[in-house]
Amino acid sequence: MINVLEDEDCTICENLDTPFSNHAPELTPEKKIELIQPKVKEILEILGLDTNDSSLAKTPYRVAKMWVKELFYGLSVENKPSVSKFQKNYDYGEMIVSKNISIFSTCEHHLLPIIGKAHVAYFPKNNEVVGLSKINRIVDFYAKRPQVQERLTYQIVNEIQSVMQSEDVACVVEAKHLCVNYRGIRDTNSSTVTSLFEGQFKQQTTKEEFLKSISLETEF
Ligand SMILES: [Zn+2]
Repeated sequence: MINVLEDEDCTICENLDTPFSNHAPELTPEKKIELIQPKVKEILEILGLDTNDSSLAKTPYRVAKMWVKELFYGLSVENKPSVSKFQKNYDYGEMIVSKNISIFSTCEHHLLPIIGKAHVAYFPKNNEVVGLSKINRIVDFYAKRPQVQERLTYQIVNEIQSVMQSEDVACVVEAKHLCVNYRGIRDTNSSTVTSLFEGQFKQQTTKEEFLKSISLETEF
């Protein structure tokens, strides 16, 4: 069942999976850019702009390319980062935290930016870890979709659980939504925090250790 938004505000997440259409055609990135371009041109013209003006002439192409190749590249599964694990030759069973991972995403209700940070933690299983930058790549892949913050938090946790073959993953996302800061209520100071604690992170002491480590001052 599709939940219809009753008002113009961003609401709580209705669906933890990205709502792909069942009949989404298999199109190459180039084909998508080719098809999106005239639609953007049409929108600009409906808004009353002259798309033949030298400043606007290439805007439809720029927007189409930016959506397909940058802002929404995470909609294509073939762009999913391949994450290989490697075996450590020393025993380290403590939590590993990656914090202050930059998030640049797009709110799916308004197509306006979501800007923030993700903090992720996991416990190595079977002495295996992933390269640190791989966590950033997973965060970025899911951020580069039209998103809802709660879903982004869930998708990051879910992916790391699946890569690590472990339940013990946690994620906190803090972000500003430009649909709140820049339009609507125009509250430039507010931000939203979402979190998901799975496996061992459901235990109060473990959760607190993670929250404490992300609150540490780390200006270098
Ligand atoms: Zn929004």
